[in-house]
Amino acid sequence: MQQLSVPVATMGERVLGIDVGGTKIASGLVDPAGRTEQLHRVRVEGRGEQALAQVVAVARGYLERHPVAAVGVAVPGGVDPVSRTVVAAPNLGWTGLDLAGLLRAELGCAVTVENDGNAAAWAEHRFGAGAGSATTVLVTVGTGLGCGLVLGGRLHTGDRGLGGELGHLLLVPDGRACVCGSRGCWEQYASGSALAAEARDRGWSAAPFTAEDVLDAAAADPVAAEVVDRVASRLAHGLTVLGACFDAGRILLGGGLGTDPRFLGRVRAGLERIAPPSAVRTPVVVEAAALGVAAGVIGAADLAAAGFDRNVDTVRADGVPCHISSSRKQS
Ligand SMILES: [Zn+2]
Repeated sequence: MQQLSVPVATMGERVLGIDVGGTKIASGLVDPAGRTEQLHRVRVEGRGEQALAQVVAVARGYLERHPVAAVGVAVPGGVDPVSRTVVAAPNLGWTGLDLAGLLRAELGCAVTVENDGNAAAWAEHRFGAGAGSATTVLVTVGTGLGCGLVLGGRLHTGDRGLGGELGHLLLVPDGRACVCGSRGCWEQYASGSALAAEARDRGWSAAPFTAEDVLDAAAADPVAAEVVDRVASRLAHGLTVLGACFDAGRILLGGGLGTDPRFLGRVRAGLERIAPPSAVRTPVVVEAAALGVAAGVIGAADLAAAGFDRNVDTVRADGVPCHISSSRKQS
């Protein structure tokens, strides 16, 4: 009855973290110090029911071999703060999905579900580049732009679970159309996709290329350098907004593009240009996030260990870690 007052992590057990992305599912076992073991990544094979079945299979694969205290799942979409259902994860075709409930029934153990940007920010706050600071603002710049906020040492989810969705900060009035239905969202100007789109607009059309190709070329090609500077400046513009909102000592940049030192250098130059030192405005200091692609796995697991989810009262009262015995393998 009182199991909520006893954090699962006090069992000293490892927790299974699963980070379900739009294209890949990362997973691993996480101990109470945030260390990972058995990290794996697999490609998402489908959407809807198919993606759900794949998440179940990944979890079962671990639980059949390793006892864990709980399961934490990060998803690319909003999670309702009260019902804990996945409000919408468009990349996976999930809407109003009670993922935690389904996994609990399937696996027989405590399951916590959280937005992936929030989970990654929580991981950096607890074990990464945000450790020791009460305010962690993580901006993940990969193909898209994702964010997560830890404010006053607590994960900020907002009233509807969309509290950290800063990729949809409307920065350019009447700008580019965004998947959210609005125009001019930050993500449309400051992401790997934006970098590739800008390069295409400037005549890069010969062969398929990635944001990294443009970054590679920027050292010698003035057009590529200009494109990277434009995207870095757009990122810097949004970062100054976050600086004013949250007064974070530093803002962490994650993701393949965000942690690339070449890009980071241009973002810093952009910040110096558009936001010179001022006595009345918080200085924006950016730093690379520390946990890389494992951040979502670690954060999801640690939130599950901390009993972040109100539905954690399904933790087994006897404190026995969940483990799928051979008799349960084919339920
Ligand atoms: Zn948007």
